[in-house]
Amino acid sequence: MVRETICAIATGMGNSGIGIIRLSGKDAIPIADKVFRGRKRIADMPSYTAAYGNIVLESGQVLDEAVVLVMRAPHTYTTEDTVEIDCHGGSILLKKVLELLLRNGARTAEPGEFTRRAYLGGRIDMSQAEAVMDLIHAKNEMALSSSVHQLKGALGEKIREMREKILYHTAYIESALDDPENYSLESYPQKLDKDVDNLLKDVDNLLNSYENGRLFQEGIRTAIIGRPNAGKSSVLNMILGEERAIVTDVEGTTRDTLEEVVNLNGILLYLIDTAGIRDTVDIVEKIGVDKARENIGKADLVLYIVDGSQPLNENDEWIIKALAGKKVITLLNKNDLKTVVDRYHLEKLLKQSIFGEASKEEPVILEISAREGTGKEALIERLTNMFFNGKLSYNDELYLTNARHKEALSEVKESLLRVKQSIEMEVGEDFYTIDLMAAYESLGRIIGEALEDDLADKIFGEFCMGK
Ligand code: GDP
Repeated sequence: MVRETICAIATGMGNSGIGIIRLSGKDAIPIADKVFRGRKRIADMPSYTAAYGNIVLESGQVLDEAVVLVMRAPHTYTTEDTVEIDCHGGSILLKKVLELLLRNGARTAEPGEFTRRAYLGGRIDMSQAEAVMDLIHAKNEMALSSSVHQLKGALGEKIREMREKILYHTAYIESALDDPENYSLESYPQKLDKDVDNLLKDVDNLLNSYENGRLFQEGIRTAIIGRPNAGKSSVLNMILGEERAIVTDVEGTTRDTLEEVVNLNGILLYLIDTAGIRDTVDIVEKIGVDKARENIGKADLVLYIVDGSQPLNENDEWIIKALAGKKVITLLNKNDLKTVVDRYHLEKLLKQSIFGEASKEEPVILEISAREGTGKEALIERLTNMFFNGKLSYNDELYLTNARHKEALSEVKESLLRVKQSIEMEVGEDFYTIDLMAAYESLGRIIGEALEDDLADKIFGEFCMGK
């Protein structure tokens, strides 16, 4: 298929030292040749070589000096002929170069279109294409590493492996129904049932990893709660330390709802409503109990700060009640002073509220001194246990990070459960294939593969050999 030649400014739009404009498509080289004057024509340059020259307007006026890099199909990102023009990075200059290219026959690329072409060219599957975006947006090392893993094709590989198994069964059933002499279905349902169980395990593992994937990518939504003077802003400062990453006014919220993201040794905390904490007026007084409750409600994690040097009071009481069912780390603060809070009593109250009396789980309480900056390591260790099963290394593990993939896998699960149901009800083999194929299709959506062709190939190629 012939596609138009597209171009776009590939680097950020600030005024930086160098800006790169990328051209891709069958006319990328001739178009670039029209605007570039170097010692050689780009058309005569071997693939993966660079040349120095000028970008020249129709009038002959030199717009900028530039280095062009030529990459020939199919061994390029998009699988098409690609030219990258490195010029100076001023945004007005880059726009002028871009306009010049447009006048010479290229068109502006839509968002993601280079990657889409890589996908259409068959170089990467859909899950890899999505990983490219995740990679660009990764906010911490874990998110980065997980996207790189997916980009290398790890998720696609797993999905293909599952599809292969499903296809095998579908093909086998179809063949057996067509040709009962050669393919027996005796005790077949038991075998299928076992394989479906294994598939369901894989699906469940991936689905369970989604929550962690989200926390890697977006951060753990964290509310810091405690009564006035407990030490919230001191804890906030201790956590932020030197590592404050991003400060944003989140759109649609008032200016005083400040959200900050902090990277704690690779764990991303997305701190909710830090303005209420930073201000000298206390969060509970300032934004009210309801708002504080709301913050607790939307948090993945509550850091509950208790002033250990003072007895608990009614503020602590309602806060503790609001913690039911949440993931909570209680920081018993000011342990540089004499501790008057009865830790065992506090533990009991927390347990009752968070887990319920009957539960075997124990609340997490850490003694810290925000003033002296002690307890941060213990906090990080607890976070790792609470959210990432105690380990932050995940090199060989697959994490689902994309809502679209999760949705597709939930459908796969439903279809596979229906297969099991059909087996149990002994409804006949042709019923299995309907749901098996539904699962196959849903899996295909993750990697962006259509189904008809390969199904036909598999059935008639592999199973009916020599017939
Ligand atoms: P907030 O109202 O909960 O945000 O509490 P602040 O962080 O403003 O702290 C209230 C007071 O307690 C301040 O005077 C802090 O200096 C003090 N404070 C906070 N953390 C500690 C601590 O670990 N030890 C001691 N001794 N004082 C602390």
